[in-house]
Amino acid sequence: MSAQILRHRSLSHRLPEGRLYAIFIAILAGVVLLLALALGEVYRQAERRAEVDASNLTAIIAEHLSGTLSRVHAGLEHLASTLPPEAFVAGNDERLRSTVERQLVLQAAHFPEILGYRAIDALGQVRYYSERGRPWFQVGDRDYFLALRDDPSLPLYIGQAVVGRSNGQLVLTVAVPVRDAKGDFRGIVTAPLNLDRLQAMFAVARLGEDGVLALWRTDTDHLVLRQPPLSREFKLSPSDGSVRRRPVLQRIQAGEQSGYFSDRSPFDGIERRYAFRRLDDYPFYIVAGIAAEDYLANWRMLVAAVGLFVLLLALALLRLLRLEREEVTAKTRLTESEARYRLLTDNSHDVIWTLDIASRRLTYVSPSVSALRGYTPEEALAQTLEQWLTAASASHLNGMIERHLKRIAAGDNTARVVTCELEQLCRDGSAVPTEVVVSNLFDAEGVPRQMLGISRDIRERKEAEQALQERNRQLQWRLDEITRLQAALREQAVRDSLTGLYNRRYLDGILEREVSRARREGSPLSLVMLDIDHFKPVNDTYGHPAGDEVLRLLAATLQADIRTEDTACRYGGEEFLILLPNMPLAAAVERAEGWRRAVAALTVDYGGLAIHFTISLGVAAYPEHGQTPGDLIRCADQALYRAKAAGRNRTLVYAAD
Ligand code: GH3
Ligand code: MG
Ligand code: MG
Repeated sequence: MSAQILRHRSLSHRLPEGRLYAIFIAILAGVVLLLALALGEVYRQAERRAEVDASNLTAIIAEHLSGTLSRVHAGLEHLASTLPPEAFVAGNDERLRSTVERQLVLQAAHFPEILGYRAIDALGQVRYYSERGRPWFQVGDRDYFLALRDDPSLPLYIGQAVVGRSNGQLVLTVAVPVRDAKGDFRGIVTAPLNLDRLQAMFAVARLGEDGVLALWRTDTDHLVLRQPPLSREFKLSPSDGSVRRRPVLQRIQAGEQSGYFSDRSPFDGIERRYAFRRLDDYPFYIVAGIAAEDYLANWRMLVAAVGLFVLLLALALLRLLRLEREEVTAKTRLTESEARYRLLTDNSHDVIWTLDIASRRLTYVSPSVSALRGYTPEEALAQTLEQWLTAASASHLNGMIERHLKRIAAGDNTARVVTCELEQLCRDGSAVPTEVVVSNLFDAEGVPRQMLGISRDIRERKEAEQALQERNRQLQWRLDEITRLQAALREQAVRDSLTGLYNRRYLDGILEREVSRARREGSPLSLVMLDIDHFKPVNDTYGHPAGDEVLRLLAATLQADIRTEDTACRYGGEEFLILLPNMPLAAAVERAEGWRRAVAALTVDYGGLAIHFTISLGVAAYPEHGQTPGDLIRCADQALYRAKAAGRNRTLVYAAD
């Protein structure tokens, strides 16, 4: 497979990955957008609910306060128009008190919101009470008195909230001027509105944990009442700068009757959603606020939950992406590594194959099988073990697999790779010897499932080995031949070719050793020298070959009649010498006599001719006759010479002259 194809494959894997990213990001963005829209809606609903709650409350309070004020107002106007003008003149008090105060009491009856009605003269002196037993006191310095006295156009004035002089309660005094027929200022009638009652009403309003309810003036922008009450450090007046002017007042002054706004309170720093509502006929507005903490508590929990969900979703998507990418990378690597191995296997001269261990079937065979066996890879794959290998090799492989599986099961790691020789069957019926390196392929659980084999054609190696063996065999044969020849040569060197007996050279050597041994061990040693009598005439009469035959027969006779430790040798033409180790002289003479008699009885059959002959023998012994080989031979020779001289066909022992 070419590198180009490899590159193409890895590229084709990258494209879907990018597309996958885009899809995941689009999904995430879509989910986030939908959730954000839903959260926005939930936020608006929570805010709307807060607005409705606050607005309802301002409506109730405004309604209540308007009603109270208009009733008090009506009462005051009624008193201002009906009280006798002389009642406001000093000195008439005692006379008119019971009449005027009865009128005041009548008006104040069933009016729990006010402390009572009061009639005040033009100098600011309270002259009449609806409440009985009140001390006289001055209100000439009060804002409501001064305003009404000084401005004849004012029909009504509501004073600042103050702590009442007569009772110590927080009151809001509603005042109406009293004028005579000419329009001159005679005094005022007032009704101090009990703010504690309103405060109690504020206190029961339900606006959540940090809700706030307040009554403000539209004319002076003073805060009249607040629930929860303000701590002392906050002044009720905005003029000292601690309370900034409320934008809401501007909206009211611009004509708005009611509305909403969000603000952080200058008193407690709490963020709230407010509803405001102004009173129709009186200079007040009610503000009710619900803390964002309260009305957004559920929304915030929802935001946290949604945030967590989005985070988890993003993480899950990222994980999915990573897994996908890893899978793609792994696939790409696998494809590339497969391609690499395929390059190797396809181009290898060796045959690479995999075998399923359980079924003993080949699962892969590289293309080089065609060159090795003459089968295509497909044909080879379809073959059974018996069609693939010779019977002996198939059983060898089977046995090897079984043995090695057992070793692996026993934890023997050396069994993972093994080498063996297998004969593989070829299409033409021949068998090709291969060297096979087999290793096990393990599955994820570490169990060997497949075997990976590499078969190498070793025909040439085998032929070379056989040729070498043949050469070795030939060399060995030659070596043996040489050894044999050498042995023969060694034999020839010490043997006489005619008789097969040892020659004189051999005897010289052995005699030396035997004499030394006899001397060392103190054992006897005898030497017999013999010579054929009148041998020359035998040659002359029967011919030389007949003489040879005589020599051979004599040698055979002697050889057959000596002990294994004795040595017989052909010493000269027709002279023989017999070495008898460990044999004393007397015994040697006896043996020599035996041989003489045996030879004398011999008949040599040569071409129908019967040849008879005799021998003469001389005997010498160690240590009696000589101490050295030379001495002993000379002594035996001299004894022989004497036997000849004495008439032949006899045995003589060496005798010194
Ligand atoms: P004598 O009894 O004194 O020993 O008499 P003889 O005839 O044996 O005398 P001599 O020892 O002088 O003669 C030896 C002869 O042995 C001479 C030679 O022709 C013969 N001869 C030596 N070697 C061989 C051999 O290998 N083959 C044959 N056929 N004859 C041999
Ligand atoms: Mg001789
Ligand atoms: Mg002779």
